[in-house]
Amino acid sequence: MAEQPKPLNIRPRILYQVAKAAWEGKLFEQREEICRLVMQEFQDKATQRQVANQIRIAMGLDPHDDAAVLTEDDELALMGMGSEPVVVANPDACRSCPEGDRACEKACPVAAITRDELGRLRINYEKCIGDGHCVDVCDFGALAHKSQFVPLIEILRQRSHPVYASVAPAFAGQFGPNVTPGKLRSALLKLGFTDMVETALYADLITMKEAFEYDHFVQTETDFMLTSCCCPVWIKLIESRFPELIDRISPSVSPMIASGRVIKALQPEAKVVFIGPCVAKKSEAQLPDLKGAIDFVLTFQELATIFAAAGINIEDQPDEENAQASWGGRIYGRTGGVSSAVGSTLKALVPRRAENFKPVKVDGIPDCQKVLDRIKTGQLDANFIEGMACKGGCVGGPGRLIPPEEGTAYVNSYGSVSHAQTPVENPHVYAILARLGHKQLPELTGEGPMSVLLARKLTGNS
Ligand code: SF4
Repeated sequence: MAEQPKPLNIRPRILYQVAKAAWEGKLFEQREEICRLVMQEFQDKATQRQVANQIRIAMGLDPHDDAAVLTEDDELALMGMGSEPVVVANPDACRSCPEGDRACEKACPVAAITRDELGRLRINYEKCIGDGHCVDVCDFGALAHKSQFVPLIEILRQRSHPVYASVAPAFAGQFGPNVTPGKLRSALLKLGFTDMVETALYADLITMKEAFEYDHFVQTETDFMLTSCCCPVWIKLIESRFPELIDRISPSVSPMIASGRVIKALQPEAKVVFIGPCVAKKSEAQLPDLKGAIDFVLTFQELATIFAAAGINIEDQPDEENAQASWGGRIYGRTGGVSSAVGSTLKALVPRRAENFKPVKVDGIPDCQKVLDRIKTGQLDANFIEGMACKGGCVGGPGRLIPPEEGTAYVNSYGSVSHAQTPVENPHVYAILARLGHKQLPELTGEGPMSVLLARKLTGNS
C-alpha cells in the first residue's frame, strides 16, 4: 500500500510568526524573514510563493502570483478589516496532496470547490456560502480564511481607541478547563482591550425581540418564522437557494451586530472586536447594511495564537468576571439554544401564545437544506424554525478549539450558573435599554414593527 503523505499545514506556524512580529511592531521589516524562517523550518517542502501567500492571508490580504510577500499596492489594504472573499485558495499547497478524491471537494456541501483547466484549486464564489469548514479539512493549508488581527494589534499597541471584545456564547471552555470567563477577561484586558462583554447579553435583547416577532407574525395555523439571525450561513443559504422564504426570516440583526451597534451608540469612538468560532462572521461584518458595527472578527484559534505571541498565559490571570447574560442568551452557542431561549421568553412575556409555539431545530448544511425543502413543500409541522450551519451549532464552528460535544457541555454548564433564566428577568437588558432610550431600538437591533412593540412594552406604553 502506498504511504500516505504527511500533513503539511504551515498556516498555524505562520499565524504565530505574523502575530508575534505584529505584536513587536516589526511585521513590515520582518515579513520576508518570516518567509525564509518558515521555509527552513519545513525543510523547503513548501514553495516560496506558498509561504508568501500564507503570510499575506494572515495579514488579511488576498493571495497573489508573486514570491514576495507585499507589493506597493498592499499598503492601503492593510489598514482596514480586509475584504471579500474571506475564504481563499492557496493552490501551491495542493502539490503535497495526493491526486484523486480530495478532502476539500468532498467536504463542501454546495460543490463550490473546483479545479481550473490546469487542475489548480478554485473556489466558485457564485456557490460558496462562506462557512469555512473546507479550511479545516485540508491538511496542507491550501484553503484559508483571511485574518484581521494585524490592524487590530496595532490599535491595541497604540492604545489609540477604547477596544471592546464581544465574545460569542460558544466561548465557554474553549481555552481549556482551567480558563474561567473571568481569567479570559483579565487576559484580554492585559492585551489592551478596554473590556470583554458577553455577546450573549445582546442575544438576550434579540431573544426578547424575536418573542414579540413570533407573537406578531405567527397568528394562523399556516404562519411560521425562520430564526437564527445569528447564523449568517443559514441566512445566506435561504437567500441564495430558497428565495421564496426570505420574507419569513426574522428582521432582527444578529447578536454580534447588536453588540457592536449598542456599544458604539454608548461610546462612539469605541472599536468592537467579535471573537467566536465562526469564519462566516468575518463576511457578515462586511455586509453593506451591517458594516461599521464590528471592526474586526477573530476566531478562538486566532485569539489563542495572539495570546501565545504576546506571551500571555490565560490560566495565570486573575479571575475577574463581569457576567451579564441570562441562561437564554448563553445557550445560543449550541443547537436548540435560540428556540429554547425564545420559547421560554415567550412564555414569560405572552404566556397564551407560548402554547402554540412549535419549534424545530436543525444543524449542518445538508440537514438545513432538507428542512428548507420540507418547508417549501408544506411538509414541516413547525412554526419557529432554527437553523445552524455547523453540526452542534456554533460550538462546531471551524474556528473552535475543542470538540463540539465538549463545547456543548461547557455552554450548558455556563448557562446554568447565570443569575437570570431569560432576558425578562435580566436587569442588564433593562439597563441597556434605559441608557439607549427606546427610540434607538429599531436602528440597533433591526427594523420591523417588533422593535416598536418591544420598546412600547418595555416602557409600559402598549
Ligand atoms: Fe457561524 Fe455558528 Fe453559523 Fe457555524 S453555526 S456558521 S459558527 S454562526
